[in-house]
Amino acid sequence: MISKIIDENLIQAAKRKILDAENIVIAGHQGPDGDAMGSTLALCNFLHKIGKKATVVIPNVCPAFLKWLPGFKEVIVFKDNRHNAINAIKAADLLLTLDLNEYQRMGDDMASFMRQSKAVKVMIDHHLNPELFADVTISYPSMASTSEMIFRLICRMGYFDVLDKEIAECIYTGMMTDTGNFSFNSNNSEMYVIVSELIKKGINKDEIYNRVFNQYSVDRFRMMGYVLTKMEVIDELGVAIIPMSRAELNQYNYHKGDTEGFVNMPLSIKGICMSAFFKEEDGLIKVSLRSQGEVSVKDISQGVFGGGGHKNAAGAEAKGKTLDEAVEMLRSALPKYSAMLLEEVAKQ
Ligand code: 5GP
Ligand code: MN
Repeated sequence: MISKIIDENLIQAAKRKILDAENIVIAGHQGPDGDAMGSTLALCNFLHKIGKKATVVIPNVCPAFLKWLPGFKEVIVFKDNRHNAINAIKAADLLLTLDLNEYQRMGDDMASFMRQSKAVKVMIDHHLNPELFADVTISYPSMASTSEMIFRLICRMGYFDVLDKEIAECIYTGMMTDTGNFSFNSNNSEMYVIVSELIKKGINKDEIYNRVFNQYSVDRFRMMGYVLTKMEVIDELGVAIIPMSRAELNQYNYHKGDTEGFVNMPLSIKGICMSAFFKEEDGLIKVSLRSQGEVSVKDISQGVFGGGGHKNAAGAEAKGKTLDEAVEMLRSALPKYSAMLLEEVAKQ
C-alpha cells in the first residue's frame, strides 16, 4: 500500500486547474537533471494522454544522456529557442513549475517571463522553503524526487490506468537519478512499491540505468582521472574539494553533463563526509556540494554562498568570484561547521 502523503485538497486543486486548462506549459530548472527532465516529461506525456495541450520548457539543455526520454524531442529549450519559448509561456493559461522552489532557479531571463505571466500557476516540488508564487503549492521536501510526486499525483487524481510505459520510464529516471541509483535518500519502503508498479508498467530498470549512467565519452573518463588526481583532501574535517577551471575543462573537450556525478565520488573514501566540486562557467562559479549523514550541505551552501538544496545535496552559484576565491570562501568557512563535520567523521 502507498500512503496518501500529499494532501487531498492539493490533489483536487491541482486536478481542477489541469482539467480547466487549455494550454499548459511545464517548466523545469536551469541545468536540468534527471529528476527535472523525468518529472516534467512524465507529466507532459500524461497530459497528452488525457487530451491536453502541454509543452515542456526548460531554461537550457539537459545532458545528452537524458535525451532519450520519451517526449524529449518536443521540449523547448529557452536559451536555444527563445522566441518559441516566450510564445509558449505567453500563450499558456496554466504554468506547472516542477522540481524547483523559486523563480530564480529558471535563470533571470526565463524567470522574468514566468513572473510576468498571468496564467494560473501550480508548483510541484521537493525542495525546502518554496517561494509562494503559485496558486497551488505542492511542496513535500520529505520526498526524494519530484518524479515520485508525479507518480503519486497521477494515481491520486485517479489516472493510474493512464500511466503507461513511457510515463513510467520518465518517473523511474527521476527517482533513480535523485537518489544516486537508490544509494541516498532512498531508505523508504514505499519508493520500492512504486518502482515495482513501474516495472509492472513495462519499464526495464537495468536498461534505464545503462542509458543514463553508462553513456560517458572517453574524454569524460580521462577527465575523471584528472579530477581525482587533483582532488584536495582536508583529512581532519573529512572534506574533499575539487576545483575545475575553464581551461582544465577545455583540455578534456568538456560537454554539458561531463562532470555530472564527480562530486559524489569522494564520498566513497572512508572518512570523507563532505565533498565540494567547483566548476568555472561564464561569469560565475557553479558549486556542487554533497555530504553524508547529518552534515547539512544545504546549511553550508546557504551560509557560505547564498545557495540552497537538500541536506545531503546542495548547490550554489558564486557570481563575480574567481575559481580560487570561491574555493577560499568555502575553505575559510569550514571551521564554523567543524563540530558538525567532526561528529560525522567520528561515525565513519
Ligand atoms: P547540483 O549539485 O546537482 O547542481 O545541485 C544539487 C542540488 O542543490 C539541487 O537539486 C538543488 O536543490 C540545489 N542547487 C543547485 N544549485 C543551486 C543554486 O544555484 N541555488 C539553490 N538555491 N540551490 C541550488
Ligand atoms: Mn529533484
